Amino acid sequence: NEALQIIERARAEGRDSLTEIEAKQVFALYGLPVTKTLLAKTEDEAVSLAREIGYPVVMKIVSPDILHKSDAGGVKVNLKDEQSVREAFRTIMANAKAYKADARIHGIAIQEMAPWGTEVILGSVNDATFGPTMMFGLGGIFVEVLKDVTFRVAPVSTSQALRMLGEIRGAPILAGVRGEEPRDKRALAETICSYSTMILDLADEISESDANPVLVYAEGKGVKVVDARIILK
Ligand code: ADP
Ligand code: MG
Repeated sequence: NEALQIIERARAEGRDSLTEIEAKQVFALYGLPVTKTLLAKTEDEAVSLAREIGYPVVMKIVSPDILHKSDAGGVKVNLKDEQSVREAFRTIMANAKAYKADARIHGIAIQEMAPWGTEVILGSVNDATFGPTMMFGLGGIFVEVLKDVTFRVAPVSTSQALRMLGEIRGAPILAGVRGEEPRDKRALAETICSYSTMILDLADEISESDANPVLVYAEGKGVKVVDARIILK
């Protein structure tokens, strides 16, 4: 099992969380659509990986000691050329060291820049009574301020997931507001379903996880997981 191998490697390093890159590899093994993401250890490598992925790219710090990358000045989006990639590499490294001098740094993730979409959050907790449980909410203030989220015990079928989408107060946003096209609820529900399979399969390994944000596109255009986090038991 490839997912278990990724988890075992992290444990062997004494870690209790996966990096974004590792978490996205695990998500991808369960069929979740994640942004293509590669690890650069040097500035020159960052440039060649950016060329391979195609501009514009996003760059992010990869450190097991920095879980909230933006807080550490560790995320740069919409980098359009080699010069910007070189500058971002130096800035992100300097920011990370200033944020946490002794942080273990694996390198910098170079990833495809996903187009704008409606931001939602998927997550999982391991409930003491019910076991692996899925969470869904809209991104940003909806989850942080309004706590507008809904839960389902895994496994969650696609039709159960579709019902979850309708349960939050912000549900009309997915139907399309202010002249926006309706969002791809079917793809989002399928993603919730696959995610729930993952947390059930890896119930002995994963304590909590999230995909924050997942960008949801217009009907037929799917979704994209742009950030991923897995905390181990
Ligand atoms: P954090 O660890 O701070 O949560 P994220 O990976 O979520 O870091 O990045 C912060 C924000 O940058 C995201 O909420 C999203 O708006 C944007 N972002 C991150 N990665 C991408 C990407 N690949 N494509 C487009 N936008 C992105
Ligand atoms: Mg995030």
